[in-house]
Amino acid sequence: MSTRGCVAIKTGTGWRGVYNHCDSYPSGLGKELWDHLKGKDLKKFAEELLRFDDWWNYLAEGVCPYCGRRGLSQPHSISVEILNRLGKKHYFGPFNKRFRTKREMREYYRKLPLWRGRDEEIEREIEKEWEIRRNIRNTGFPDPRIKYHKHKFVDLSELQITSENVDPLFIEWVYVVDPEQRTMDILACQGFSVGGTAKNVPERTGDGFVDHGNYKYRHVRVARVSLDGKEPDWNFIEGIIQVEVALEDVMDEKQLIFEQLKGGKIKRSSCLICNEPALTMHSDPVHLSCLRKVLEELGGDAETWLQPLKQDDPELWVEE
Ligand SMILES: [Zn+2]
Ligand SMILES: [Zn+2]
Repeated sequence: MSTRGCVAIKTGTGWRGVYNHCDSYPSGLGKELWDHLKGKDLKKFAEELLRFDDWWNYLAEGVCPYCGRRGLSQPHSISVEILNRLGKKHYFGPFNKRFRTKREMREYYRKLPLWRGRDEEIEREIEKEWEIRRNIRNTGFPDPRIKYHKHKFVDLSELQITSENVDPLFIEWVYVVDPEQRTMDILACQGFSVGGTAKNVPERTGDGFVDHGNYKYRHVRVARVSLDGKEPDWNFIEGIIQVEVALEDVMDEKQLIFEQLKGGKIKRSSCLICNEPALTMHSDPVHLSCLRKVLEELGGDAETWLQPLKQDDPELWVEE
Protein backbone atom coordinates (compact mmCIF):
# COMPACT_ATOMS: atom_id res chain seq x y z
CA MET A 1 0.00 0.00 0.00
CA SER A 2 1.17 3.51 -0.64
CA THR A 3 2.13 5.35 2.51
CA ARG A 4 1.34 8.99 1.98
CA GLY A 5 3.18 11.84 3.58
CA CYS A 6 4.20 15.47 3.50
CA VAL A 7 7.47 17.39 3.27
CA ALA A 8 6.91 20.64 5.09
CA ILE A 9 8.54 23.85 6.25
CA LYS A 10 8.02 25.22 9.74
CA THR A 11 5.93 28.39 9.80
CA GLY A 12 5.25 30.72 12.72
CA THR A 13 2.75 28.48 14.48
CA GLY A 14 2.57 25.36 12.32
CA TRP A 15 3.83 24.12 9.00
CA ARG A 16 3.14 24.19 5.25
CA GLY A 17 4.27 21.57 2.77
CA VAL A 18 3.89 19.38 -0.26
CA TYR A 19 2.37 15.95 -0.84
CA ASN A 20 4.32 12.71 -1.29
CA HIS A 21 2.43 9.75 -2.70
CA CYS A 22 4.23 6.66 -1.42
CA ASP A 23 6.87 5.20 0.90
CA SER A 24 6.57 8.15 3.25
CA TYR A 25 7.73 6.27 6.37
CA PRO A 26 11.05 7.28 7.96
CA SER A 27 13.16 4.61 6.21
CA GLY A 28 11.71 5.83 2.89
CA LEU A 29 10.89 9.52 2.58
CA GLY A 30 12.59 10.38 5.90
CA LYS A 31 15.95 9.08 4.76
CA GLU A 32 15.54 10.48 1.25
CA LEU A 33 14.79 13.93 2.60
CA TRP A 34 17.58 13.84 5.16
CA ASP A 35 20.09 12.86 2.44
CA HIS A 36 18.70 15.55 0.15
CA LEU A 37 19.07 18.29 2.76
CA LYS A 38 22.59 17.46 3.94
CA GLY A 39 24.77 20.51 3.47
CA LYS A 40 21.96 22.43 1.71
CA ASP A 41 21.03 26.08 2.16
CA LEU A 42 17.74 25.41 3.94
CA LYS A 43 16.25 28.85 3.41
CA LYS A 44 16.69 28.41 -0.32
CA PHE A 45 15.27 24.89 -0.06
CA ALA A 46 12.19 26.22 1.75
CA GLU A 47 11.59 28.79 -0.95
CA GLU A 48 11.99 26.30 -3.77
CA LEU A 49 9.89 23.58 -2.14
CA LEU A 50 6.90 25.86 -1.68
CA ARG A 51 6.81 26.61 -5.38
CA PHE A 52 5.32 23.10 -5.72
CA ASP A 53 2.49 21.00 -4.36
CA ASP A 54 4.16 17.64 -4.82
CA TRP A 55 7.53 16.24 -3.72
CA TRP A 56 8.16 14.38 -6.98
CA ASN A 57 7.48 17.50 -8.99
CA TYR A 58 9.91 19.37 -6.79
CA LEU A 59 12.57 16.67 -7.37
CA ALA A 60 11.96 16.81 -11.11
CA GLU A 61 12.38 20.58 -10.72
CA GLY A 62 8.84 20.87 -11.99
CA VAL A 63 9.94 20.78 -15.62
CA CYS A 64 7.17 19.38 -17.81
CA PRO A 65 8.79 16.77 -20.10
CA TYR A 66 6.53 17.81 -22.99
CA CYS A 67 6.72 21.61 -23.04
CA GLY A 68 9.75 22.22 -20.87
CA ARG A 69 7.98 24.81 -18.74
CA ARG A 70 8.44 24.99 -14.99
CA GLY A 71 6.10 25.12 -12.06
CA LEU A 72 2.96 24.04 -13.92
CA SER A 73 0.58 21.40 -12.62
CA GLN A 74 0.83 17.80 -13.86
CA PRO A 75 0.46 17.43 -17.63
CA HIS A 76 -2.68 15.63 -18.78
CA SER A 77 -4.59 14.85 -21.99
CA ILE A 78 -1.25 14.00 -23.59
CA SER A 79 -1.68 13.15 -27.24
CA VAL A 80 -0.12 9.89 -28.50
CA GLU A 81 2.22 11.65 -30.92
CA ILE A 82 4.18 13.27 -28.12
CA LEU A 83 3.73 10.58 -25.48
CA ASN A 84 6.92 8.66 -26.24
CA ARG A 85 8.93 11.63 -27.41
CA LEU A 86 10.80 12.61 -24.30
CA GLY A 87 14.12 14.17 -25.12
CA LYS A 88 16.11 14.03 -28.33
CA LYS A 89 17.18 10.41 -27.99
CA HIS A 90 13.82 8.65 -27.87
CA TYR A 91 12.65 9.35 -31.34
CA PHE A 92 9.65 7.23 -32.26
CA GLY A 93 7.20 8.25 -34.94
CA PRO A 94 3.60 7.03 -35.09
CA PHE A 95 3.32 3.27 -34.60
CA ASN A 96 6.90 3.41 -33.38
CA LYS A 97 8.11 3.90 -36.94
CA ARG A 98 10.86 6.32 -37.78
CA PHE A 99 9.98 7.76 -41.16
CA ARG A 100 12.92 9.33 -42.94
CA THR A 101 10.84 11.38 -45.35
CA LYS A 102 7.32 12.74 -45.56
CA ARG A 103 6.82 10.59 -48.61
CA GLU A 104 7.73 7.43 -46.71
CA MET A 105 5.22 8.32 -44.01
CA ARG A 106 2.52 9.17 -46.57
CA GLU A 107 2.95 5.84 -48.37
CA TYR A 108 2.92 3.91 -45.12
CA TYR A 109 -0.33 5.54 -43.97
CA ARG A 110 -2.08 5.13 -47.32
CA LYS A 111 -1.54 1.40 -47.17
CA LEU A 112 -3.28 1.11 -43.79
CA PRO A 113 -6.95 0.04 -44.17
CA LEU A 114 -8.04 2.44 -41.43
CA TRP A 115 -6.60 5.46 -43.29
CA ARG A 116 -7.89 4.62 -46.76
CA GLY A 117 -9.44 7.63 -48.49
CA ARG A 118 -8.36 10.01 -45.72
CA ASP A 119 -5.59 11.80 -47.61
CA GLU A 120 -6.25 15.20 -46.06
CA GLU A 121 -6.02 13.80 -42.55
CA ILE A 122 -2.85 11.97 -43.47
CA GLU A 123 -1.30 15.27 -44.59
CA ARG A 124 -2.25 16.81 -41.25
CA GLU A 125 -0.61 13.91 -39.41
CA ILE A 126 2.53 14.38 -41.48
CA GLU A 127 2.67 18.12 -40.73
CA LYS A 128 2.12 17.40 -37.04
CA GLU A 129 4.89 14.82 -37.05
CA TRP A 130 7.34 17.21 -38.70
CA GLU A 131 6.35 20.01 -36.36
CA ILE A 132 7.09 17.80 -33.36
CA ARG A 133 10.46 16.85 -34.87
CA ARG A 134 11.30 20.52 -35.40
CA ASN A 135 10.30 21.26 -31.82
CA ILE A 136 12.51 18.51 -30.43
CA ARG A 137 15.42 19.63 -32.59
CA ASN A 138 15.04 23.30 -31.68
CA THR A 139 13.99 23.19 -28.03
CA GLY A 140 14.57 19.64 -26.78
CA PHE A 141 10.84 19.32 -26.07
CA PRO A 142 8.13 17.92 -28.36
CA ASP A 143 5.39 20.42 -27.55
CA PRO A 144 6.73 23.77 -26.26
CA ARG A 145 3.57 25.65 -27.29
CA ILE A 146 1.31 23.25 -25.31
CA LYS A 147 -0.79 22.21 -28.32
CA TYR A 148 -0.80 18.46 -27.79
CA HIS A 149 -1.11 18.27 -24.01
CA LYS A 150 -2.75 20.32 -21.27
CA HIS A 151 -2.03 21.92 -17.91
CA LYS A 152 -4.59 23.09 -15.48
CA PHE A 153 -3.53 26.42 -14.06
CA VAL A 154 -4.04 26.35 -10.33
CA ASP A 155 -3.26 28.25 -7.19
CA LEU A 156 -0.51 26.17 -5.60
CA SER A 157 -0.97 27.53 -2.11
CA GLU A 158 -4.44 26.01 -2.07
CA LEU A 159 -3.09 22.59 -2.97
CA GLN A 160 -0.38 22.58 -0.34
CA ILE A 161 -0.86 20.76 2.92
CA THR A 162 -0.75 22.74 6.16
CA SER A 163 -1.00 21.99 9.85
CA GLU A 164 -4.44 23.62 9.64
CA ASN A 165 -5.91 21.66 6.74
CA VAL A 166 -4.21 18.26 7.04
CA ASP A 167 -6.21 15.10 7.68
CA PRO A 168 -3.79 12.74 9.44
CA LEU A 169 -5.80 9.72 8.28
CA PHE A 170 -4.55 10.35 4.75
CA ILE A 171 -1.14 11.81 5.52
CA GLU A 172 0.57 9.29 7.74
CA TRP A 173 3.98 10.93 8.11
CA VAL A 174 4.98 14.59 8.06
CA TYR A 175 8.56 15.90 7.99
CA VAL A 176 8.82 19.49 9.16
CA VAL A 177 12.07 21.21 8.28
CA ASP A 178 13.14 24.15 10.44
CA PRO A 179 15.64 26.18 8.39
CA GLU A 180 16.67 28.27 11.43
CA GLN A 181 17.49 25.38 13.74
CA ARG A 182 18.57 23.04 10.91
CA THR A 183 16.37 20.29 12.32
CA MET A 184 13.64 18.06 10.97
CA ASP A 185 10.64 17.03 13.05
CA ILE A 186 9.11 13.65 12.27
CA LEU A 187 5.37 13.59 12.91
CA ALA A 188 3.51 10.29 12.97
CA CYS A 189 -0.22 9.73 12.71
CA GLN A 190 -1.83 8.44 15.87
CA GLY A 191 -5.39 7.15 15.76
CA PHE A 192 -7.97 5.90 18.24
CA SER A 193 -11.28 4.18 18.02
CA VAL A 194 -13.98 6.35 19.54
CA GLY A 195 -16.86 3.98 18.94
CA GLY A 196 -19.23 6.31 17.07
CA THR A 197 -20.43 6.19 13.49
CA ALA A 198 -18.34 7.54 10.64
CA LYS A 199 -18.94 11.18 9.70
CA ASN A 200 -19.18 12.38 6.13
CA VAL A 201 -17.15 15.44 6.94
CA PRO A 202 -14.46 14.94 9.56
CA GLU A 203 -14.36 17.55 12.27
CA ARG A 204 -11.38 19.41 13.65
CA THR A 205 -11.58 19.29 17.42
CA GLY A 206 -9.72 21.77 19.55
CA ASP A 207 -7.28 19.23 20.99
CA GLY A 208 -5.43 18.67 17.73
CA PHE A 209 -7.47 15.68 16.63
CA VAL A 210 -9.44 15.26 13.44
CA ASP A 211 -12.60 13.42 14.39
CA HIS A 212 -13.99 10.97 11.83
CA GLY A 213 -16.82 9.81 14.10
CA ASN A 214 -15.64 6.21 14.46
CA TYR A 215 -11.96 7.08 14.76
CA LYS A 216 -9.97 10.16 15.52
CA TYR A 217 -6.49 10.96 14.34
CA ARG A 218 -3.72 13.46 14.91
CA HIS A 219 -0.05 14.01 14.26
CA VAL A 220 2.44 13.77 17.09
CA ARG A 221 6.15 14.51 16.91
CA VAL A 222 8.00 11.25 17.50
CA ALA A 223 11.51 12.52 16.75
CA ARG A 224 13.49 15.67 16.08
CA VAL A 225 16.64 15.00 14.10
CA SER A 226 19.54 17.26 13.30
CA LEU A 227 20.25 17.82 9.61
CA ASP A 228 23.97 18.13 10.29
CA GLY A 229 24.58 15.35 12.79
CA LYS A 230 24.86 11.60 12.57
CA GLU A 231 22.30 9.81 10.41
CA PRO A 232 19.32 8.69 12.53
CA ASP A 233 18.25 5.04 12.74
CA TRP A 234 15.17 5.32 10.52
CA ASN A 235 13.96 1.76 11.06
CA PHE A 236 14.14 2.22 14.80
CA ILE A 237 12.06 5.42 14.73
CA GLU A 238 9.55 3.74 12.46
CA GLY A 239 9.32 0.56 14.48
CA ILE A 240 9.35 1.76 18.06
CA ILE A 241 5.99 3.54 17.91
CA GLN A 242 4.32 0.42 16.55
CA VAL A 243 5.49 -1.87 19.33
CA GLU A 244 2.90 -2.89 21.90
CA VAL A 245 3.21 -1.61 25.42
CA ALA A 246 3.71 -4.24 28.14
CA LEU A 247 0.32 -5.33 29.49
CA GLU A 248 1.23 -4.85 33.14
CA ASP A 249 1.75 -1.15 32.36
CA VAL A 250 -1.75 -0.68 31.00
CA MET A 251 -3.87 -3.12 33.02
CA ASP A 252 -4.30 -3.59 36.72
CA GLU A 253 -3.97 -7.04 38.25
CA LYS A 254 -7.71 -7.74 38.12
CA GLN A 255 -7.87 -6.98 34.44
CA LEU A 256 -4.82 -9.10 33.74
CA ILE A 257 -6.32 -12.09 35.53
CA PHE A 258 -9.68 -11.62 33.83
CA GLU A 259 -8.02 -11.29 30.43
CA GLN A 260 -5.96 -14.42 31.02
CA LEU A 261 -8.97 -16.49 32.17
CA LYS A 262 -10.91 -15.30 29.13
CA GLY A 263 -8.32 -15.78 26.40
CA GLY A 264 -5.32 -17.43 27.97
CA LYS A 265 -3.03 -15.66 25.53
CA ILE A 266 -0.92 -13.56 27.88
CA LYS A 267 2.67 -14.72 27.97
CA ARG A 268 5.91 -13.67 29.50
CA SER A 269 8.31 -11.98 27.18
CA SER A 270 10.99 -9.33 27.55
CA CYS A 271 11.06 -5.59 26.85
CA LEU A 272 12.70 -4.65 23.56
CA ILE A 273 14.48 -1.75 25.21
CA CYS A 274 15.61 -2.89 28.66
CA ASN A 275 15.34 -6.66 28.19
CA GLU A 276 13.56 -7.04 31.56
CA PRO A 277 10.46 -9.28 31.79
CA ALA A 278 7.25 -7.90 30.30
CA LEU A 279 3.78 -9.35 29.59
CA THR A 280 2.29 -9.47 26.12
CA MET A 281 -0.39 -11.15 24.04
CA HIS A 282 1.43 -10.81 20.73
CA SER A 283 5.01 -9.95 19.86
CA ASP A 284 7.82 -8.38 21.87
CA PRO A 285 6.52 -5.48 24.00
CA VAL A 286 8.09 -2.37 25.52
CA HIS A 287 7.55 -0.96 28.98
CA LEU A 288 5.67 2.32 29.05
CA SER A 289 8.56 3.94 30.91
CA CYS A 290 11.08 2.58 28.38
CA LEU A 291 9.03 3.91 25.45
CA ARG A 292 8.79 7.28 27.18
CA LYS A 293 12.54 7.39 27.68
CA VAL A 294 13.25 6.42 24.08
CA LEU A 295 10.81 8.98 22.62
CA GLU A 296 12.34 11.68 24.81
CA GLU A 297 15.83 10.75 23.64
CA LEU A 298 14.65 10.92 20.02
CA GLY A 299 13.33 14.43 20.64
CA GLY A 300 9.74 13.31 20.32
CA ASP A 301 6.75 14.61 22.25
CA ALA A 302 6.57 11.58 24.55
CA GLU A 303 4.00 13.13 26.86
CA THR A 304 1.52 13.71 24.07
CA TRP A 305 2.14 10.37 22.38
CA LEU A 306 1.57 8.37 25.58
CA GLN A 307 -1.09 10.39 27.41
CA PRO A 308 -4.25 9.93 25.28
CA LEU A 309 -3.75 6.20 24.91
CA LYS A 310 -4.96 5.83 28.45
CA GLN A 311 -8.11 7.91 28.05
CA ASP A 312 -9.40 6.81 24.71
CA ASP A 313 -9.19 3.08 24.75
CA PRO A 314 -10.62 2.13 28.14
CA GLU A 315 -10.72 -1.53 27.14
CA LEU A 316 -6.98 -1.68 27.18
CA TRP A 317 -5.82 1.40 29.04
CA VAL A 318 -6.45 2.40 32.63
CA GLU A 319 -5.92 5.65 34.49
CA GLU A 320 -2.84 5.69 36.63
ZN1 LIG B 1 3.79 20.86 -20.42
ZN1 LIG C 1 11.73 -1.96 29.44
